[in-house]
Amino acid sequence: MAEKIQENLISLCKRRGFIFQTSEIYGGLQSFYDYGPLGVELKRNIKKLWWKEMVQNHKEIVGLDSSILMHPKTWQASGHLEGFTDPLVECKRCHKRFKADELTKDRCPECGGALTNSKDFNLMFKTFMGSTEDSASEVYLRPETAQGIFVNFKNVLQTSRLKIPFGVAQIGKAFRNEITSGNFIFRIKEFEQMELEYFVNPKNASKIHEKWQKKRLNWYIDLGINKENIRLKKHSKDQLAHYAKACSDVEYNFPFGWSEIEGIANRQDFDLTQHSKFSHQDLVYLDPETGEKFAPHIIEPSAGVERPLLAFLIDAYEEMGGETGKKKEVVLRLDKRLSPIKVAIFPLIKKEPLQKIAKEIFNDLKSAWMCQYDETGSIGKRYRRQDEIGTPYCITVDFDSLDDDSVTIRDRDTREQERIKIKELKLILRQRLDF
Ligand code: ATP
Repeated sequence: MAEKIQENLISLCKRRGFIFQTSEIYGGLQSFYDYGPLGVELKRNIKKLWWKEMVQNHKEIVGLDSSILMHPKTWQASGHLEGFTDPLVECKRCHKRFKADELTKDRCPECGGALTNSKDFNLMFKTFMGSTEDSASEVYLRPETAQGIFVNFKNVLQTSRLKIPFGVAQIGKAFRNEITSGNFIFRIKEFEQMELEYFVNPKNASKIHEKWQKKRLNWYIDLGINKENIRLKKHSKDQLAHYAKACSDVEYNFPFGWSEIEGIANRQDFDLTQHSKFSHQDLVYLDPETGEKFAPHIIEPSAGVERPLLAFLIDAYEEMGGETGKKKEVVLRLDKRLSPIKVAIFPLIKKEPLQKIAKEIFNDLKSAWMCQYDETGSIGKRYRRQDEIGTPYCITVDFDSLDDDSVTIRDRDTREQERIKIKELKLILRQRLDF
């Protein structure tokens, strides 16, 4: 059942223009995806809401946009050059590759062939800068946005007059040459991350870590994820990254099992200490009040955009009807803040003057919200089209509108229809859509 829902959702994503396989006309490129007209809106809404929650709502948190290619020493200091590896084995018969630590048997799970010995495989994509492909010009596509924040620690501190505790947030692309990929957009090689690095006094690190875990879990619940489908999962000692003191993942109950959508780690002073060592720059913090000098510890809530997006879609997806003789209907019960299109406007039939009034309403509302004008097909069909992309409100201009200057507004979830004066529409929608 769960697999079927996932299959249907993936097909909806393609059919309605949320997500396409990249370079599809050339047969695609495995584990890379493109976001269509609706997908790009959903992605932007997630990023906007994250930024509002993490930056705008905090006087002690600022934003940053650092470059994707960084000085190669960054990756020496961070440990990614040495340690960002997966143990890779290959089947000698079918040449499929697997992560050795995910295999339960010592033969190929696909064809039963013999496997090679395991080799460490670095997950960073390497490229070359300049005209020669020699090792002096090697650069890496960043595998996380966090390092851009660490190397700018001093710049931000000196220019923004922040005092500990403070945070720097960033949203941007990250790249990982994952050995195994799949489950649609769950594990991909190019994705976006939304990361906060929160610099704290070591004395307070554990308490602040606890606080961020709760805050991050609640963010998803507030945005409509069903409480039963989301949880915090604490890493056991042997699951912890070597630099982390503690880490909890926000996990979602995907059709393929509970899996991480965000990690919240206590990274201690590892990052700043390492960058101090490799750059020979002093990255300690001097407390202006106590005169205390210390390397700040870092609490890091780190989420992707795509995994939460998939979780939001799966959680919102609902199929209704489908009994014999009845057509199956899909409603995407996305939180209104996430919905790609907020309002759809229809003339009851494709005739003037209904079209003119509907277009005027569209033009009036479009500066405030993403709207869609649709005049094709029956009204029922048009409602269903909007339901399956999660549009919270549909407005219909009918013949009565000519006499009462009113329209019908239909609610996606209750399916109730109300009559509202055209001149009051904007105000009413503002009350329902602006938060
Ligand atoms: P996993 O164990 O599943 O590989 P991770 O622990 O390596 O994930 P982190 O390094 O903690 O992931 O990255 C933080 C977040 O970035 C993840 O919670 C996830 O949302 C996102 N992310 C990481 N790798 C990928 C990927 N290959 N595809 C999509 N999102 C990813």
